[in-house]
Amino acid sequence: MFSITKKQGIALIELNSPPVNALDLKMRKALSASIAELGTDDEIKAMVICSALPVFCGGADINEFQTGQLWEKPDLPDLCLAIENSIKPVIAAIVGAAMGGALEVALACDYRVASEDAVMGLPEIKLGLLPGSGGTQRLPRIVGLEVATRMILSGDPVKGEYALSCGLVDALFENDQDFSTHVLDFATRVSHEGDPKRSCEDMTVKHPDPRGFLREFRYQIAPKSKNLVAPERCLESIKAACELPMVEGLAQEKAGFAELLDTPQSRAGRHLFFAERECTKIPGVTRADQPRDITSVAVIGAGTMGRGIAITFLQAGYPVALLETAQGALELGLEKVREHFQRASQKGRLSADRAEAIAANATGTLSYGDLAEADLIIEAAFESMDVKRQIFEALDRHAKPGAILASNTSTLDLDEIAAVTSRPEDVIGLHFFSPANVMRLLEVVRGAKTAPDVIATAITVAKKIRKLPVTVGVCYGFVGNRMLEPYFREGSRLLLEGATPKQVDDVLEGFGMAMGIHAMADLAGVDVGARVRQERRSEIAHDPTYQAVQDRLFELGRLGQKTGRGSYVYEGRTRVEDPEIVQISAHLADFHGVKRREIDDQEILERCLFPLINEGFLILEEEIATRPGDCDLIWVNGYGFPNWRGGPMHYADEIGLSQILERMTHYRQSLGTYGEMWFTPAPLLEQLATSGVTLDAHFDAKKEKS
Ligand code: NAD
Repeated sequence: MFSITKKQGIALIELNSPPVNALDLKMRKALSASIAELGTDDEIKAMVICSALPVFCGGADINEFQTGQLWEKPDLPDLCLAIENSIKPVIAAIVGAAMGGALEVALACDYRVASEDAVMGLPEIKLGLLPGSGGTQRLPRIVGLEVATRMILSGDPVKGEYALSCGLVDALFENDQDFSTHVLDFATRVSHEGDPKRSCEDMTVKHPDPRGFLREFRYQIAPKSKNLVAPERCLESIKAACELPMVEGLAQEKAGFAELLDTPQSRAGRHLFFAERECTKIPGVTRADQPRDITSVAVIGAGTMGRGIAITFLQAGYPVALLETAQGALELGLEKVREHFQRASQKGRLSADRAEAIAANATGTLSYGDLAEADLIIEAAFESMDVKRQIFEALDRHAKPGAILASNTSTLDLDEIAAVTSRPEDVIGLHFFSPANVMRLLEVVRGAKTAPDVIATAITVAKKIRKLPVTVGVCYGFVGNRMLEPYFREGSRLLLEGATPKQVDDVLEGFGMAMGIHAMADLAGVDVGARVRQERRSEIAHDPTYQAVQDRLFELGRLGQKTGRGSYVYEGRTRVEDPEIVQISAHLADFHGVKRREIDDQEILERCLFPLINEGFLILEEEIATRPGDCDLIWVNGYGFPNWRGGPMHYADEIGLSQILERMTHYRQSLGTYGEMWFTPAPLLEQLATSGVTLDAHFDAKKEKS
């Protein structure tokens, strides 16, 4: 767990508990005992807590948050107090990362030194929590109110240089073979000082107007934190640090932490945290499936997505070749890529030299022969099976053996695309989201014949380009867009039945969605949805009202934001209600024999969300997604579902599956033939709801068995 070496009167406590020196109960007990023992050792003048791993410490063991073991004594606040109260000075020597509880331990030390590349932060707020082991009390005392508030409320880490400038660390050393010597020298120097102890208890938070500052800060973050509980608790706790003796502040902080731990928001945060850890564990892919080497990338199609994908790879250091059908399109695409990096440099995000060097890594071609050396080729041409077929036939002829052939298709059958090649095992879907260089989500689509090492490669590459890869199977729309379909369908149908776009969007945005259905359709382009539906006519023909309003908008040329009119009228980017939509909807309702009525907010929410969740159940049953957390990651990171609700499947568990089943059944019965068409509960939903098992528990049990 850790070793102790004594050198020149300094005890080096070197943590060595892979993978991240988690501060679990065993570690806390052993550390507390050793610190107490070393405190009474006359030979020892100071202690250093350091790490044998590339990371200082990842903080608390979040598994203990689920089991309740985090409260077992000594808990983390106790460990911090044991360090703070030690009669010998304690120094934290930070390399790599010190996050959450780890930084709280470091804050309880008398001194902190770090390597230049170290990162330090209190990310608890991202889990719907506050730093509960003294972080909100000690950090403001050490770095001042303003820096501490920003760090705690953002949850973002700071780097070595900044940490030194704000007083978070006392010295910064290069992360080389001399690091330990520098640390030892520092500890020796400190131990020779007259009074080397520096307890936070003796410090106060220095600020001329803490209340005024916190009031202003609260006001500034209000738009982003309106639905969240943790920010307010963090601010209250920081205020306590300014106004109360430390022991009282610590008690208030601990109570705040305990309260937050039991909130749906914190459960949601932890669910997503674990989901991210799990999502790269893919059935049938093992450690033996070594990723292939990817050093060069090609992108087919330099349109919206192709450019974004190219930018993503370029900024991660890959050379990228773009292929187009015509010189004009190619030049335009390359120009847009160059402009992106120029803008980044003008905004100060990149040096001009670096921007130029990155952009110079992009090349263009009209010939497949030039892609013969590419390790990974991603197709992002038009969404048409004929176009994709032609491209993959050409790739099969020209790509080198072992090259990975990927498609960015949003809806088309990847197996059909793979079948035109002689190497379907090398074909995979890499479904980026728009804007591809911004959105973190990457749906990795596994075809029937995709080789496990190709999937392993996709996961490795995704991490290098800083994406979140979630592996899914082949079906119409994969996971994200398949769940989107019922959601959009209901949003549109509700207009026929009497709701307005604003009413629907207000309810969904009130729930926490980044954008309502109608605003989202206007942003994506009404024509985009209409084209997708044209391809699917046969499958949706049994519902003559299916997206009737959207189809009418398309006929009227109301294509959304790009034409200034869609479900709304746009004044700049501001959306304004348009009474004409009510007339269009009423007219269509009349035509289709749909009775119009007042629709309340609760119905809007249930009608939009529950069929989406129901689709998630079908997807899980069909094993298109491996686990509910995968669906949640996709919806939180690709579709603006509020992360504080944990994603649609977690939300379903949180409100209770029996409620969803009951309401699905209710709408099935109350909406006539329309209800019968679209509100059939998924068998898995029925099974779990009637047996009182949560989705989470069901999948946990499944995991245990496998
Ligand atoms: P787009 O129309 O902006 O760009 C397509 C580009 O491909 C055009 O520049 C076109 O000249 C080029 N092209 C067409 N046929 C080609 C061929 N045979 N060889 C080489 N280049 C060819 O389209 P887009 O929005 O970038 O979408 C591209 C793909 O990405 C589609 O499959 C789409 O479904 C998918 N996708 C789009 C989005 C989105 O939000 N736009 C999101 C995810 C996935």
